[in-house]
Amino acid sequence: MSEPAISNFIRDEVAADLAAKRFTKVATRFPPEPNGYLHIGHAKAICINFGIAQEFGGVCNLRFDDTNPTKEEQRYIDSIQEDVCWLGFDWGDRLFYASDYFDRMYELALEMIRGGKAYVDDQTQEQIRLSRGTLTEPGTPSPWRNRSIEENLDLFRRMKAGEFPDGSRVLRAKIDMSSPNLNMRDPVMYRILAVPHHRTGDRWKIYPMYDWAHGLEDSIEGITHSLCTLEFADHRPLYDWFLEQLGVHHPRQIEFARLELSYTVLSKRKLLQLVERKLVSGWDDPRLPTLAAMRRRGYTAEAIRNFCDRIGVSRSNSIVDVALLEHCLREDLNRRAPRTMAVLRPLKLVITNYPEGKIELLNADINPEDPSAGKREVPFNRELWIERDDFMENPPAKFFRLAPGREVRLKYAYYVRCNEVIKDPGTGEIVELHCTYDPETRGGWSKDGRRVKGTSHWISVPHAIPAEFRLYDRLFNRPDPDEGEGFLSNINPDSLEAIRGFVEAGLAGARPGSNYQFERQGYFCVDPDSTPSAMVFNRSVSLKDSWAKISR
Ligand code: ATP
Ligand code: MG
Repeated sequence: MSEPAISNFIRDEVAADLAAKRFTKVATRFPPEPNGYLHIGHAKAICINFGIAQEFGGVCNLRFDDTNPTKEEQRYIDSIQEDVCWLGFDWGDRLFYASDYFDRMYELALEMIRGGKAYVDDQTQEQIRLSRGTLTEPGTPSPWRNRSIEENLDLFRRMKAGEFPDGSRVLRAKIDMSSPNLNMRDPVMYRILAVPHHRTGDRWKIYPMYDWAHGLEDSIEGITHSLCTLEFADHRPLYDWFLEQLGVHHPRQIEFARLELSYTVLSKRKLLQLVERKLVSGWDDPRLPTLAAMRRRGYTAEAIRNFCDRIGVSRSNSIVDVALLEHCLREDLNRRAPRTMAVLRPLKLVITNYPEGKIELLNADINPEDPSAGKREVPFNRELWIERDDFMENPPAKFFRLAPGREVRLKYAYYVRCNEVIKDPGTGEIVELHCTYDPETRGGWSKDGRRVKGTSHWISVPHAIPAEFRLYDRLFNRPDPDEGEGFLSNINPDSLEAIRGFVEAGLAGARPGSNYQFERQGYFCVDPDSTPSAMVFNRSVSLKDSWAKISR
């Protein structure tokens, strides 16, 4: 695995707890709500939780926080497990569901009522909201706040039995309506919701609220360190209060900053809107920051783990430059991706002095960064595809590639000189270049020391495999997509361009998910839509590294 994080105050806190014998072992958890696909922000939380457990020889649970049946689905549960595995983490036999604790939570709620610490409130949601007060004014106690314990027990049991309509009553904690912390002003613990649950079916007509359930889940599982994002710091006194009233195992909560990335939205709610409005092709559209999408785009688990290590863990929110994420991918793929040539926008080049029917196999490195990867053989012949951008009929001063009368190197092959430009008589479009080659320059080097300034990649026409290339740009055209009229109005209309060209014969049969570096073009990955007769490649990232430039 990768090197330790640059800054990680959580590690220091956990080490201090163990040294002080506050806990004797470490137990963490990753607790997603199964209401969407995981994104790169979740990857940060996964790396922190599993990472801390690994480092201290502890355990990390995967727990589905499935307390809201209106938004949760089995397919999200499946995708979350797939993503955590893919990232390289193992929860062993510790896969849990909050819904498995519904009985226990209900018992504990009865205990709260018996202790006079919870009551059934008949007010509407709206009335409860309005009587909560503000940061400067205390709340108003509910008229039902002083019901007898017997009446509360009876009403709560009947809420559970489904005797009352949805939303007609709630169970609230009885804490302090004038607490400066609004979370302590008699928060709702249970609501009536006659909606079937994907795991418990129609057994439950009441469901626990997050603030009541979450701390209990950690307590029941014996979690020692509840690592969560900063927005829960204000809820900590409430979790502490519940656990103290009940006298049960009490984890320590430590908050860290959420990951925020430029040009990216990291909220399942917003991602769901993009999917539902068909602004992207699905949860795994390669332009999204979900782990499923990033995997499809060609991201490796190593690159993502490395990124999470590099950004470290801090106590204050900041926005990370998406260029750093891309840099981490380049760094990883540079090490591991086999090199190959692909022509994205093809133009035919005919070598008029090359024998018809002759085929040569030229040697090229599979990966110059990794000599053990060996060599590949690339077929060369009289007719080649080159990149349309590598030729200009009337080149400006700084253009060093092919032009009429000019000589360039065909990578690994020969020097060629352009003698004639063939155009479509109707449209005037350039359709073919006629060149001659110098047989004395085999391998792409001249023995007489003659230099050329440009090098082109190429593909032999009879060997070329047709392919579609999907070129992605940022999905949003502002660093902060929420600026202005909101994220839906800041969508980049040119975030996907699909073009057709050719790849080397050696890529025949390449499996979806395989990464390549197309020389001079960028890193590409075989898409799941790809078939042997219609190959499809996603551009993972270009070769140009803006992060390396910034950080130099
Ligand atoms: P979203 O805002 O995307 O819906 P969430 O926090 O509601 O995310 P959960 O399923 O509750 O999603 O998240 C599971 C865990 O992942 C939580 O512990 C949460 O703190 C953490 N997490 C979610 N988003 C981020 C993020 N951007 N950076 C770091 N951790 C995150
Ligand atoms: Mg959440």
